[in-house]
Amino acid sequence: MLRTPLLAAARSPRARTLVEQFPPTRAMVRRFVAGDYLDQAVSVTAELVGSGRRISLDHLGEDTVDAAQAAATAAAYEELLGALAETGLAGSAEVSVKLSAVGQSLARDGEKVALDNARRICEAAAAAGTTVTLDMEDHTTTDSTLAVARELRADFPWLGVVLQAYLHRTEADCADLATAGSRVRLCKGAYQEPASVAYQAKAEVDRAYARCLRTLMRGDGYPMVASHDPRLIRIAGQLAEWTGRKPESFEYQMLYGIRPEEQQRLVDTGATLRVYLPYGAEWYGYFMRRLAERPANLAFFLRALATR
Ligand code: FAD
Repeated sequence: MLRTPLLAAARSPRARTLVEQFPPTRAMVRRFVAGDYLDQAVSVTAELVGSGRRISLDHLGEDTVDAAQAAATAAAYEELLGALAETGLAGSAEVSVKLSAVGQSLARDGEKVALDNARRICEAAAAAGTTVTLDMEDHTTTDSTLAVARELRADFPWLGVVLQAYLHRTEADCADLATAGSRVRLCKGAYQEPASVAYQAKAEVDRAYARCLRTLMRGDGYPMVASHDPRLIRIAGQLAEWTGRKPESFEYQMLYGIRPEEQQRLVDTGATLRVYLPYGAEWYGYFMRRLAERPANLAFFLRALATR
C-alpha cells in the first residue's frame, strides 16, 4: 500500500527537499549507503572484503540533466576504479553503473552519450582488472540498456547486465542471455511498473523469479542471484545442486545493510556472495526505493521523525 506513494516520492523534487533536510535521515541513509565520498566507499569495501564478501560499487547518481554531468559521473567511476586498483581491492570489487547517470535520458543522443561514457568506464575497469555490471531502471529503458550492453560486450565480454523478474519480457531475455560468458544479475525489480508490462502481485513476481533463475542456472552463463528472499535463496541453492554448479560458477548478491547475517552465513558455507555497495551524495532515489521495499524501514524512519 505504501510502495506506490514512496516510489512516487522518489521522483518528486519537493519530497526530496523535505527528506534531505530532515536531520535523522542521515543516520538511516548510512545503513544503506557507504558515505558521500570515495574514501568512505573504499574503506567500507576493504572491511567487507576482509569478511569474505565481494563487492559491486555504485557511484550514486540518476536524473543526469546534461552531458557535462554525465561525463563527470564517468570520471568519478574512473577515479573509483583507479582507487580499487591502487588499494589491491580490484580482485574482489567491481562496479555497477546506471546508464541514466551517464546520459541515457538526455533528449539529444542520450543512448550514444551513455554508450560512450559506459565504454570509458569499461576501459578503466579492464585496466584495473575488474568488471562492470549495468543496472536496470524502469521498463522504458530496458531495450536501450540491453542494446548498449550488446554493443559493449563485443569489446568487454565480461560485462554484466541486470534483468528484472517482474517484467513479462524477462523470461525470454533470460533465455537469450543464458549463453557462455554472459553475466546476468537477476533481481525482482524496484520500480513502479504498469500491469501491461509487469506482474503486480508478489506471488507472481516470486514465481517469475524462480522460472528465470531456472533458465539461467540451466544455461551456460554466470547467474548472479540478487535477492534477500529466503525462499528464492533456497531455490537458487537447489537449482545449483541439480545443475551441477560449483560455488565459483554463480553468485548470490545482496544490498549493503540488508540481511548482513544471511550474507555472512552464505560466505561461511563457501558460497560466493557479493554486496552491492552504493556511495555518493545523490542517495535520495536509491534510499526511497529501499524504504518502499519494506514497511519496517519506513516505520523506523517515521519513529525518528515523531521523536524529534
Ligand atoms: P523481497 O520480497 O522484497 O524481500 C525479501 C526479504 O528481504 C524481506 O522480507 C526482508 O527481510 C528483506 N528485504 C528486502 N528489501 C529490504 C529492504 N529494503 N530493507 C530491509 N530488508 C529488506 N532493482 C532494479 O530494479 N534494478 C537493479 O538494477 C537492481 N539491482 C539490484 C542489485 C542487487 C545486488 C540487489 C540485491 C537488488 C537489486 N535491485 C535492483 C532491487 C531488487 O529489484 C529488489 O527491489 C530488492 O532486492 C528487494 O527484493 P528481494 O528479492 O530482496 O525480495
